[in-house]
Amino acid sequence: EEKLQIVKKHIRNYNDFPKKGIMFWDVFSVLKEPKIFHLLKEVLVDTVKKIDPPIECIAALDARGFLFGSLLSLEFNVPFVPIRKKGKLPGCTFRASYSKEYGEDTLEVQIGSIKKGQKLLIIDDLLATGGTLACSSQLAKQCGAEDITYLVVLELEDLKGRELISDHKLISLIKL
Ligand code: 5GP
Repeated sequence: EEKLQIVKKHIRNYNDFPKKGIMFWDVFSVLKEPKIFHLLKEVLVDTVKKIDPPIECIAALDARGFLFGSLLSLEFNVPFVPIRKKGKLPGCTFRASYSKEYGEDTLEVQIGSIKKGQKLLIIDDLLATGGTLACSSQLAKQCGAEDITYLVVLELEDLKGRELISDHKLISLIKL
Protein backbone atom coordinates (compact mmCIF):
# COMPACT_ATOMS: atom_id res chain seq x y z
CA GLU A 1 0.00 0.00 0.00
CA GLU A 2 1.15 3.47 -0.93
CA LYS A 3 0.66 5.05 2.51
CA LEU A 4 2.77 2.36 4.14
CA GLN A 5 5.55 2.85 1.63
CA ILE A 6 5.72 6.50 2.69
CA VAL A 7 5.65 5.60 6.39
CA LYS A 8 8.38 3.01 5.87
CA LYS A 9 10.69 5.63 4.36
CA HIS A 10 10.39 7.66 7.56
CA ILE A 11 11.42 4.92 9.94
CA ARG A 12 15.02 5.62 10.89
CA ASN A 13 17.36 2.89 11.95
CA TYR A 14 20.36 3.06 14.23
CA ASN A 15 23.29 0.67 14.19
CA ASP A 16 24.66 -0.70 17.45
CA PHE A 17 21.73 0.42 19.64
CA PRO A 18 21.03 -0.35 22.45
CA LYS A 19 24.17 -2.43 22.16
CA LYS A 20 26.76 -3.49 19.61
CA GLY A 21 25.47 -5.68 16.79
CA ILE A 22 21.83 -4.63 17.19
CA MET A 23 20.04 -2.58 14.56
CA PHE A 24 17.33 -0.47 16.19
CA TRP A 25 14.26 0.69 14.24
CA ASP A 26 12.99 3.94 15.68
CA VAL A 27 9.23 4.26 15.27
CA PHE A 28 9.33 7.65 17.02
CA SER A 29 10.85 9.08 13.84
CA VAL A 30 7.37 8.76 12.29
CA LEU A 31 5.73 10.67 15.13
CA LYS A 32 8.07 13.60 14.63
CA GLU A 33 6.23 14.33 11.39
CA PRO A 34 2.50 14.79 11.98
CA LYS A 35 1.60 14.19 8.32
CA ILE A 36 3.34 10.84 8.33
CA PHE A 37 1.92 9.90 11.75
CA HIS A 38 -1.51 10.72 10.35
CA LEU A 39 -0.97 8.37 7.40
CA LEU A 40 0.02 5.61 9.80
CA LYS A 41 -3.03 6.30 11.93
CA GLU A 42 -5.30 5.99 8.87
CA VAL A 43 -3.77 2.63 7.98
CA LEU A 44 -4.08 1.39 11.56
CA VAL A 45 -7.75 2.41 11.73
CA ASP A 46 -8.56 0.82 8.35
CA THR A 47 -6.78 -2.36 9.43
CA VAL A 48 -8.62 -2.65 12.73
CA LYS A 49 -11.97 -1.91 11.03
CA LYS A 50 -11.52 -5.07 8.99
CA ILE A 51 -11.03 -7.37 12.00
CA ASP A 52 -13.98 -9.71 12.28
CA PRO A 53 -15.57 -10.19 14.76
CA PRO A 54 -14.97 -6.60 15.90
CA ILE A 55 -12.53 -6.06 18.75
CA GLU A 56 -13.90 -5.25 22.20
CA CYS A 57 -10.69 -4.35 24.04
CA ILE A 58 -7.14 -3.24 23.22
CA ALA A 59 -4.14 -4.35 25.26
CA ALA A 60 -0.96 -2.47 24.47
CA LEU A 61 2.68 -3.00 25.34
CA ASP A 62 4.67 -0.53 27.37
CA ALA A 63 5.88 1.83 26.03
CA ARG A 64 5.65 2.24 22.27
CA GLY A 65 2.55 0.06 21.96
CA PHE A 66 0.79 2.68 24.10
CA LEU A 67 1.15 5.28 21.35
CA PHE A 68 -0.92 3.32 18.88
CA GLY A 69 -3.14 1.45 21.32
CA SER A 70 -4.52 4.59 22.91
CA LEU A 71 -5.43 6.27 19.63
CA LEU A 72 -7.17 3.10 18.43
CA SER A 73 -9.08 2.70 21.69
CA LEU A 74 -10.56 6.19 21.25
CA GLU A 75 -11.30 5.59 17.57
CA PHE A 76 -13.15 2.31 18.26
CA ASN A 77 -14.55 3.29 21.65
CA VAL A 78 -13.12 0.24 23.44
CA PRO A 79 -11.10 0.02 26.67
CA PHE A 80 -7.33 0.55 26.62
CA VAL A 81 -5.42 -1.89 28.82
CA PRO A 82 -1.71 -1.47 29.58
CA ILE A 83 0.67 -4.42 29.76
CA ARG A 84 3.79 -3.42 31.66
CA LYS A 85 7.01 -4.78 33.10
CA LYS A 86 6.57 -6.09 36.62
CA GLY A 87 6.27 -3.64 39.48
CA LYS A 88 4.76 -0.75 37.53
CA LEU A 89 1.03 -1.44 37.74
CA PRO A 90 -0.91 -0.84 40.97
CA GLY A 91 -3.48 -3.28 42.35
CA CYS A 92 -3.78 -7.02 41.80
CA THR A 93 -2.10 -8.31 38.66
CA PHE A 94 -1.51 -11.47 36.67
CA ARG A 95 2.13 -12.15 35.81
CA ALA A 96 3.87 -14.08 33.08
CA SER A 97 7.55 -14.44 32.25
CA TYR A 98 9.54 -15.07 29.11
CA SER A 99 13.19 -15.66 28.42
CA LYS A 100 15.27 -13.12 26.55
CA GLU A 101 18.79 -13.22 25.21
CA TYR A 102 20.05 -12.45 28.70
CA GLY A 103 17.80 -13.58 31.54
CA GLU A 104 14.07 -13.24 31.99
CA ASP A 105 11.45 -10.55 31.76
CA THR A 106 8.12 -10.51 33.56
CA LEU A 107 5.04 -8.70 32.30
CA GLU A 108 1.89 -7.83 34.22
CA VAL A 109 -1.71 -6.91 33.52
CA GLN A 110 -4.26 -5.72 36.06
CA ILE A 111 -6.78 -8.40 37.02
CA GLY A 112 -10.22 -7.53 35.67
CA SER A 113 -8.92 -5.10 33.05
CA ILE A 114 -9.51 -7.53 30.19
CA LYS A 115 -12.93 -9.15 30.62
CA LYS A 116 -13.63 -12.84 30.18
CA GLY A 117 -14.64 -13.69 26.62
CA GLN A 118 -13.63 -10.34 25.15
CA LYS A 119 -12.35 -10.13 21.59
CA LEU A 120 -8.94 -8.67 22.14
CA LEU A 121 -6.39 -6.77 20.09
CA ILE A 122 -2.83 -6.87 21.41
CA ILE A 123 -0.72 -4.11 19.90
CA ASP A 124 2.97 -3.22 19.89
CA ASP A 125 5.27 -1.20 17.69
CA LEU A 126 7.55 -4.02 16.59
CA LEU A 127 7.77 -7.80 16.43
CA ALA A 128 11.27 -9.20 16.83
CA THR A 129 11.62 -12.68 18.39
CA GLY A 130 7.98 -12.76 19.47
CA GLY A 131 8.71 -13.28 23.18
CA THR A 132 6.90 -10.12 24.25
CA LEU A 133 3.68 -10.86 22.37
CA ALA A 134 3.70 -14.55 23.34
CA CYS A 135 3.97 -13.52 27.00
CA SER A 136 1.20 -10.95 26.55
CA SER A 137 -1.17 -13.53 25.13
CA GLN A 138 -0.51 -15.75 28.16
CA LEU A 139 -1.60 -12.83 30.34
CA ALA A 140 -4.66 -12.24 28.18
CA LYS A 141 -5.63 -15.89 28.51
CA GLN A 142 -5.29 -15.71 32.29
CA CYS A 143 -7.88 -12.92 32.07
CA GLY A 144 -10.11 -15.16 29.94
CA ALA A 145 -9.71 -13.29 26.65
CA GLU A 146 -10.81 -15.11 23.53
CA ASP A 147 -10.23 -14.42 19.90
CA ILE A 148 -6.92 -12.61 20.19
CA THR A 149 -5.48 -10.69 17.24
CA TYR A 150 -1.92 -9.35 17.29
CA LEU A 151 -1.10 -6.10 15.54
CA VAL A 152 2.36 -4.61 15.04
CA VAL A 153 3.56 -1.74 12.90
CA LEU A 154 6.92 -3.38 12.11
CA GLU A 155 7.91 -7.02 11.73
CA LEU A 156 11.54 -8.09 11.59
CA GLU A 157 10.90 -11.14 9.44
CA ASP A 158 14.34 -12.74 9.75
CA LEU A 159 13.84 -13.28 13.48
CA LYS A 160 10.82 -15.49 12.79
CA GLY A 161 8.83 -14.15 15.75
CA ARG A 162 5.69 -14.96 13.77
CA GLU A 163 6.30 -18.67 14.41
CA LEU A 164 6.31 -18.22 18.17
CA ILE A 165 2.91 -16.55 18.14
CA SER A 166 1.21 -18.71 15.53
CA ASP A 167 -1.56 -19.48 18.05
CA HIS A 168 -3.39 -16.34 16.91
CA LYS A 169 -3.75 -14.15 13.87
CA LEU A 170 -0.91 -11.65 13.38
CA ILE A 171 -1.23 -8.48 11.33
CA SER A 172 2.02 -6.64 10.60
CA LEU A 173 1.92 -3.48 8.53
CA ILE A 174 5.55 -3.14 7.45
CA LYS A 175 7.97 -6.02 7.01
CA LEU A 176 11.67 -5.32 7.36
P1 5GP B 1 10.54 -9.41 20.92
O1 5GP B 1 9.97 -9.78 22.25
O2 5GP B 1 9.58 -9.69 19.79
O3 5GP B 1 11.88 -10.03 20.67
O4 5GP B 1 10.84 -7.86 20.93
C1 5GP B 1 9.83 -6.92 20.73
C2 5GP B 1 9.86 -5.87 21.78
O5 5GP B 1 11.11 -5.24 21.86
C3 5GP B 1 8.83 -4.81 21.47
O6 5GP B 1 8.18 -4.39 22.66
C4 5GP B 1 9.64 -3.69 20.85
O7 5GP B 1 9.17 -2.43 21.24
C5 5GP B 1 11.06 -3.93 21.35
N1 5GP B 1 12.04 -3.84 20.27
C6 5GP B 1 12.96 -4.78 19.92
N2 5GP B 1 13.72 -4.35 18.89
C7 5GP B 1 13.27 -3.13 18.56
C8 5GP B 1 13.63 -2.17 17.54
O8 5GP B 1 14.53 -2.33 16.71
N3 5GP B 1 12.93 -1.02 17.52
C9 5GP B 1 11.91 -0.79 18.39
N4 5GP B 1 11.23 0.36 18.27
N5 5GP B 1 11.55 -1.65 19.34
C10 5GP B 1 12.22 -2.82 19.43
